[in-house]
Amino acid sequence: MHFASDNSGPVHPEVLVALAKANDGYQMAYGADTLMNEVRDRIRGIFEAPGAAVYLVATGTAANSLALATLSKPWETVFCSPVAHIHEDECNAPEFYSGAKLTLVPGGDRMAPDALRQSITGEETRGVHGPQRGPVSITQVTERGTVYTLEELQSLCSVAKEFNLPVHLDGARFSNALVALNCSPADMTWKAGVDAVSFGGTKNGLMGVEAVVFFDESKAWEFELRRKRGAHLFSKHRYLSAQMAAYLKDDLWLKSARQANANCNRLANGLRDAGAEFPYEPHANMIFANLTRKQHKRLHQAGAVYHLWAGTLDGSDEEELLTCRLVCDWSNTNEQIDQFLSLLQG
Ligand SMILES: *Cc1c(COP(=O)(O)O)cnc(C)c1O
Repeated sequence: MHFASDNSGPVHPEVLVALAKANDGYQMAYGADTLMNEVRDRIRGIFEAPGAAVYLVATGTAANSLALATLSKPWETVFCSPVAHIHEDECNAPEFYSGAKLTLVPGGDRMAPDALRQSITGEETRGVHGPQRGPVSITQVTERGTVYTLEELQSLCSVAKEFNLPVHLDGARFSNALVALNCSPADMTWKAGVDAVSFGGTKNGLMGVEAVVFFDESKAWEFELRRKRGAHLFSKHRYLSAQMAAYLKDDLWLKSARQANANCNRLANGLRDAGAEFPYEPHANMIFANLTRKQHKRLHQAGAVYHLWAGTLDGSDEEELLTCRLVCDWSNTNEQIDQFLSLLQG
């Protein structure tokens, strides 16, 4: 019963098979491998963007930081949610790589267009002394397990465009959001007004690969230079390409995301039946749920692994509600989920 994160799960066996296959003979280094040509074509096809620039890196932090660095200048500010991964969980790497600062748009898991407009309006009012307006970064699935609708994405992007600012999408869980919305990758990105995407793979069954996609090809060379200077250009790049190629082959990425979301749905339904409340409505593969300390203790003793979001297990009030975060991936079994749910009773 392991629901700590979708990066705690195993690598999909098909990806390991592809890695073994890619291990045959010689390939040019640094992204000049033949599999990368396949990956680039495939991603351009999937996004209906024949001119897109496509690159691979090994972590989501690198994808976000290098993408934002390419979209911004050191005197600019990146607009994001206060709970954004780039703000809370990347140890200032986006600021380090870009030189820009982050401006937190007041609000919760999802940025609201009016709040974004207000934040943007508030910058660039101090001439040479103040930060200049820069990119807007949106997370989809959000860090609280919710998903922006296409209309919400379009509204945020059109606010950015009012000020002529580029939009970055942190898609560490891109596939989970995509299958939740049942739309096309183009709908969720450039058709809505997104300029660059961190297209996640690691949380959905890869060993460690994320793609960065720019719909404006003129960003390509700058990104390549930044990736190399930032020490994220892999020399044995074929092993990144092989993972991403396996991910996209026969829709493994979509199948894995559908399975993760279905697992989450089973878990959420059971939690709801047991009377648990959700501080955020689960839309994809992540749940925030309030359970009593007694329930948490029982789960913990039975070996369930997940993060308590607030509070601790110690404490005498057995009925006190503590929020936890539960994340599913493609590999959870119904038995594991049902065992977890059975422990809620009593
Ligand atoms: C996991 C995650 C990332 C990437 O994190 P790494 O640990 O650097 O791979 C980026 N954004 C969000 C929203 C994430 O959940």
